[in-house]
Amino acid sequence: MPQLYVMFKTVSTDCNLDCSYCYYRESLEGVRVRRRMDNGLIERFIPAYMEYVADAGVASMAWQGGEPTLAGLPFFQKIVEAQSRSVAPGTLVSNSLQTNAVLLNDDWGAFLKRYNWLVGVSLDGPREMHDTLRRDRGGRGSFDRVMRGIDVLRRHGVAFNVLCVLGPHNVDRPVELLRFFRAERFTHVQFIPAMDFQAMEPERPPVYLITPAQYGAFLTAAFDEWHEEGSPRISIRTFDNFLQSYTGVPNDLCVHSDRCDSGIVVEYDGSAYPCDFYIHPRWRLGNVLETPLREIAEGPARRAFVFQKQPLPDECRRCEWLRVCKSACFRNRTEGEDGTRPDHFCASYKTFFPHADARLRGLGSAIENKRRYLRMAEIAPREVARVGRNDPCPCGSGRKHKLCCLSPAAERSYLLATPPEFKA
Ligand code: SF4
Ligand code: SF4
Repeated sequence: MPQLYVMFKTVSTDCNLDCSYCYYRESLEGVRVRRRMDNGLIERFIPAYMEYVADAGVASMAWQGGEPTLAGLPFFQKIVEAQSRSVAPGTLVSNSLQTNAVLLNDDWGAFLKRYNWLVGVSLDGPREMHDTLRRDRGGRGSFDRVMRGIDVLRRHGVAFNVLCVLGPHNVDRPVELLRFFRAERFTHVQFIPAMDFQAMEPERPPVYLITPAQYGAFLTAAFDEWHEEGSPRISIRTFDNFLQSYTGVPNDLCVHSDRCDSGIVVEYDGSAYPCDFYIHPRWRLGNVLETPLREIAEGPARRAFVFQKQPLPDECRRCEWLRVCKSACFRNRTEGEDGTRPDHFCASYKTFFPHADARLRGLGSAIENKRRYLRMAEIAPREVARVGRNDPCPCGSGRKHKLCCLSPAAERSYLLATPPEFKA
C-alpha cells in the first residue's frame, strides 16, 4: 500500500487568535465555533491508519486547526498512546504540530521533545510586522506570546520551523525579514502568500492580498539574501522545493508536483477531504468512522482530485519553467471560468526562475557532488582522508579540496550537510 499523509483538523476552525487573513473559518464572515475531535475517533482511526501504512513503513501525521493546542495536552497524550499500541514493527512514525505557540508551556515542551514531534510556529516577522495582522479577538498583537512559546521549544530542544505568511504587512521587506529570522537563529522557514479565501468556500473566486509582482519581487530579493554565495545557512522551504526539482528528487510540496497529492485532511468529526483548501461537501471523500480508509484514499473521488492539474493550461504546456513550477496550485487557477488559466502567481514564478536559475543549478550540482563525497567518505574513508587540501576535491567538482568539501562555508551550509531529499 502507498504512503498516506494525514492532516488532522484537531479543533476544526477554533482558535485563540483572530488573524485577519485566516483561510480556515466557517465563512468569509469569520464565525468560529468551539469544536473538538474526540478520543473515540482517535482510538478507532489510528489503528486503521497504522494498518493501512504498515507496508509503506511510514506513518506521517500533522495536527492542525484552527489552533490544535486548544484540544489540550491530555488529548495529544492519548494520540501517542494509540499510536504506540497500533504501530506495526519497523514503521517510522512522524508527528508534526502547526501552532501559533501562544499556549506552549513546559509541559508541552517536555511532551513534544519526548515524542520527537516537529513543530511549525506561525510568525510573520519582527513585532511590527507580526502584530499588524496576527491579533487576538481583543485586538492585541501576539508577538510576545509567540516568542515566549518559541523559548519553550528552545529550552526543551524541540525541533521547529517558522511559517511566515506574506501579506501587505511584510511582502515588501524581504531582506529585513530574512535578517530577523537569521538573527533569531531560526534554521527552517517557510513562506506562504496570504490569500483571502475560505477553505469552506472553494467555489468562490479567491481574493489575493498581494500582487504577483509583489510576490515575484519578494522571491527574487529573498533568494539573493538567502543564497550567500552558494552556502545558504538557513532552509527556506520554497527554495528547497525548487532544488528538489533541480536534483531530480520528487517534490514534497503538492504546489510544485505533477499531482494534487497532499494526503487527506480529517476534520474533527471524521469527515475526510483531499486538500485543506477544499473543505466542502462537494469534495468530501467520506468519513473515517464509516468509510474504509482504502476507499477514501484510493477511491474515484480522490483519484479525480489528485489528477485535477491535468489538462494543463496552454500557457503552462508551453512554459519553459514547467519542469520546476509544475503549474503550481490548482486552487489558484480558478480565476478563469473553466479553470484553464495558470496560477494567479504565474508572473511571480516567471520573474523568479530566470533570476535564480543559474544559481539553483549551481546549488543542485554542489548537492550532487557532496552526496558523492559523502558516499566515498563512507565507503573509502582512508582514501578520502589522504586527499591533500590543495588537491582536486574527490567529489569531482574540479575545485581544490580546501575550497570545496573541506571549506568552512560548505560546513556551514545546511544544504550541503543535509541535501533536501534527506530532510523530513
Ligand atoms: S510559470 Fe506560469 S505558465 Fe509556467 S508552469 Fe508555472 S504557472 Fe504555468
Ligand atoms: S489545490 Fe493546491 S494546495 Fe491543494 S493539493 Fe492541489 S496544489 Fe496542493
